Amino acid sequence: MTKKTDVLIVGSGPAGLTAAIYSARAQLNPVVVEGEPSSTSDQPGGQLMLTTEVENFPGFPEGIMGPELMGHMRAQAARFGADLVTEKVSKLDLSSRPFRAWIGSNSGDADYEASAVIVATGARALMLGVPGEDRLLGHGVSTCATCDGFFFRDMPIAVIGGGDSAIEEALFLTRFASSVTLIHRRDSLRASKIMQERAQQNDKISFLWNTQVTEVIGESKVQQLALVDTVTGATSTMDVAGVFVAIGHLPATELVGEALDLRENGYLAVQHGSLTSVEGVFACGDVQDHHYRQAITAAGSGCMAAIDAERWLEAQGS
Ligand code: NAP
Repeated sequence: MTKKTDVLIVGSGPAGLTAAIYSARAQLNPVVVEGEPSSTSDQPGGQLMLTTEVENFPGFPEGIMGPELMGHMRAQAARFGADLVTEKVSKLDLSSRPFRAWIGSNSGDADYEASAVIVATGARALMLGVPGEDRLLGHGVSTCATCDGFFFRDMPIAVIGGGDSAIEEALFLTRFASSVTLIHRRDSLRASKIMQERAQQNDKISFLWNTQVTEVIGESKVQQLALVDTVTGATSTMDVAGVFVAIGHLPATELVGEALDLRENGYLAVQHGSLTSVEGVFACGDVQDHHYRQAITAAGSGCMAAIDAERWLEAQGS
């Protein structure tokens, strides 16, 4: 049977759960479809479930583990009556109102009809896909220097990539690390000239050109990288305590990419806070933000989406 809701929230990272807390407190009885526990890329809680300690989320002077923080947000949303559905939205029809959503493998009538939809599906860091990388994620492998750089005080680390993100991460990491080696698969950077110059002028940064990582080595934490020279084919290893993969992010727009306008870079286009190109559909968090990508900015944008949805629903007389 199709259930009706005022607000359907897709995604349960900081953006989705903050939207849930706000819309539940506004008595909109939100349904949050939080993702599939068995999936590594779409699990409930989003990217913070893959990090260890979070030290930059305000309110936790001693820091907090990523999964614990998400557990708190989830409990807070549930406390105010959000209905948390631990499955995946398989199809979303945004072509007419009420919007309709199908869950899991259901191919019959829609599971939900919603007056408003908040898209908070997040983004995934692109990974190298080499042995050891997944296993040591959070144990020396990271995709966020702002989140994890502090743990590598006076240690040698490597950054993978040749774009602006890689340079930005490398520059930030020089505050902590004893040395930062930027490993790039070609012999010239994709990054903007100004970022290149900054990196070249920094004594702590050295460059390893024409090199690919073939394995991340370590028992319980990262100890070495196995490398291959992309020109000569020569193999080598390098001792590092941490490796930051900065080869780009992919916004999770599979569900809505055809229905909603995207920006040139593939992220959802929003205006005036969280308004997408379809009236009644709002977006928040990393799926619409390639610039800040922080838990706190995602949470802030989740709050904005909930308030925007609430005001829009009120204007509709719902
Ligand atoms: P990007 O510009 O797409 O660069 C990705 C880099 O990773 C490239 O150098 C690419 O190598 C490398 N790469 C991709 N797949 C790889 C693989 N499997 N193995 C090894 N290397 C791989 O991504 P980005 O740096 O995240 O930047 C995305 C956008 O955000 C850009 O428009 C960028 O200008 C912008 N941005 C701006 C700033 C800033 O202005 N401060 C900061 C961050 C991002 P190739 O070069 O060989 O393709």
